[in-house]
Amino acid sequence: MNSMSGPQSGSRTWAEPYKIKMVELLRMTTREEREQAIREAGYNTFLTRSRDVYIDLLTDSGTGAMSDRQWAGLMLGDEAYAGSENFYHLEAVIKEYYGYEYMLPTHQGRGAENLMSQLLIKPGDYVPGNMYFTTTRLHQELAGGTFVDVIVDQAHDPESSFPFKGNVDIAKLNRLVQDVGAKRVPYISLEGNVNMAGGQPFSMSNLNDLHSYCRKHDIPIMLDATRTIENAWFIREREDGYADKSVREILREICDLTDGCTMSAKKDALVNIGGFFACNDEELFKKSQNLAVVYEGLHTYGGLAGRDMEAMAQGIREAVTEEHQAARIGQVRYLGEKLDAAGIPIVKPIGSHAIYINAKRFLPHVDQDEYPAQTLAAELYIESGIRTMERGNVSAGRDPKTGKNRRPQLELLRLAIPRRVYTQAHMDVVTESVIDVYKRRNEIRGLRIVYEPEYLRFFQARFEPIS
Ligand SMILES: *Cc1c(COP(=O)(O)O)cnc(C)c1O
Repeated sequence: MNSMSGPQSGSRTWAEPYKIKMVELLRMTTREEREQAIREAGYNTFLTRSRDVYIDLLTDSGTGAMSDRQWAGLMLGDEAYAGSENFYHLEAVIKEYYGYEYMLPTHQGRGAENLMSQLLIKPGDYVPGNMYFTTTRLHQELAGGTFVDVIVDQAHDPESSFPFKGNVDIAKLNRLVQDVGAKRVPYISLEGNVNMAGGQPFSMSNLNDLHSYCRKHDIPIMLDATRTIENAWFIREREDGYADKSVREILREICDLTDGCTMSAKKDALVNIGGFFACNDEELFKKSQNLAVVYEGLHTYGGLAGRDMEAMAQGIREAVTEEHQAARIGQVRYLGEKLDAAGIPIVKPIGSHAIYINAKRFLPHVDQDEYPAQTLAAELYIESGIRTMERGNVSAGRDPKTGKNRRPQLELLRLAIPRRVYTQAHMDVVTESVIDVYKRRNEIRGLRIVYEPEYLRFFQARFEPIS
């Protein structure tokens, strides 16, 4: 292994490659205050107020800390309606690092997903993907498509330590293509570091196989590039032949094997808002530019201020560095290894952006229709003001045909770590709090839904405890 290969357990190779120039003060609350806050929020952490939160692990989306250079970039915002200088800068950076020919900024990832789904999916189509993502699947369904999960079986097993749980099972994909015909498959949706599986990467050899298969059947590969830079780190760390390649080279190799991408820049790209759609097909790109004026804005700003595009361009530059990824992934691993050592059931291998606690094993006495992971999120908040989120039965929603809960195999509590925000001491506090909840797990009862919105219910549903 070369000297830049980190983050290793028990060593300091992941120490932060930055120092702190400004701080945001946190507010401490009492247990009584937190009990009241979570009751008022309908036991849904998405409905709690940020001021009532101590350590915020709700999501790693848009919650990262920008660098001084990114903040300086905000001052360079060219807020012209058309042809902003920052657009051309961002376009050049995306071409340099991701390699796609054409790029359209969007207000965030789902803006890009909306445009791409509407342009590529016809009613009755099937869209295979390496596990669903909430907004991605919803846009596929709104466009008339049906999502089909073609991820490897290991991804659905929280106990499996397979190193590439984000891989596509080509046999599953082939079965779909044989069943419905390649003409009904507009593209395959390929996500890097699969969020719903626990932040699990695909391997380059799997992508190469997928590429060959898709070329043969004339099916484009559309990447969900949200955490692909973090996926590149894992390829470098785990896959034969990649130890001496840079994250930057691996990212480019991934993108070169795909036909386009949607991107939530709120993750990898270290900004608080933003996204983009990119592709190599000029025809598709022109259509996306045209549709953008309906949903996002003119194609040179796509719902973003000029300064946001400048911060994103700089964020991408920082995200592809080895030092950033070593610290990012090292910190998440530090937390995961501590929880694991304490006997807390977590999904392994430890992913890049979050620790996922297996709520089925943490609360085996709570039925899945009493939402164990949702319950655990509320309990951890009450314990110590740590805000996390459910990735299980609530997030999976109802089957559109039967109206029943989907009861997914994975019932997880996600502790997402914002980039460059919290310290090692904060991670220690998180560990201690989870252990305290674990000690009283037998007293914990589940929840029932009292209000359920139609779309993406996990954001706004309300619950009450089952007495
Ligand atoms: C966050 C996310 C999205 C959606 O992006 P937004 O910026 O939240 O709209 C899509 N795919 C994945 C994998 C994500 O994590």
